[in-house]
Amino acid sequence: MVIFFALIAIASRAIDKGGFLASVVVGYSILWGGGYKWFIIVAAFFTLGVGFTYYKYEYKKRMGTAQEKGGSRNWPNIIANGGVASIFAVAQTFFGGFMYQILFIGAISAAGADTVATELGLLSKSHPRLITRLNKEVAHGTSGGITLLGLLGAFLTSAIIGSLALLVGLGDGVNLILISIFGGVVGSIGDSILGAVLQRKGECRICGKFTEGSRHCDEPVKIVSGLRFIDNNVVNLLATIIGAAAALSLTFII
Ligand SMILES: [Zn+2]
Repeated sequence: MVIFFALIAIASRAIDKGGFLASVVVGYSILWGGGYKWFIIVAAFFTLGVGFTYYKYEYKKRMGTAQEKGGSRNWPNIIANGGVASIFAVAQTFFGGFMYQILFIGAISAAGADTVATELGLLSKSHPRLITRLNKEVAHGTSGGITLLGLLGAFLTSAIIGSLALLVGLGDGVNLILISIFGGVVGSIGDSILGAVLQRKGECRICGKFTEGSRHCDEPVKIVSGLRFIDNNVVNLLATIIGAAAALSLTFII
């Protein structure tokens, strides 16, 4: 089933070859650790992510904000979004208990919420605002920028993931939808804050272009803010940990 899903993904160009291997590893860990119920949640996240990446792709391409390489995800993207969730799945088989279910739902919600928020934010008519300085408008696609449309997308995506988790019977009776929304929204806000503060932003030494990549014009970029080793994938991975922690904290409160 995992191979089948990954093959569909590679055939539809949603992932590249490295992404295929990473998806098989992440998919198997989750299926083996958590079972088919957990796998359904991940499949829903993946479908939503791919769907919103390709939604109005031509428009995003014209605006210069579309995901690179035709929107296909490579292995660091897959690990950043699914790595933490697969560790929770494996931990669940060793230690059991509903705590790992909540952590898993929080991590997947955060990954899904952030992916959809990013893709919807690119379509926002109004400019994104920097989360750490809300009066400052930034270009579409800038890490740390937030839009109302993106926040709405984050909310709805985590509500869908929570509803699905409830439907397949995860969570042992706790209010999963609320917990999932909390994990997803806190995770994606965390993603924006880390994106604004810690993520590498640089300027090309040759052409002067602003970039979030590590190299431009075949030269390492000059770092203007953030840390050199923290890129978008590292931020995404940290955001899934924040989402998981937020979801678990809420179960102790309500
Ligand atoms: Zn350059």
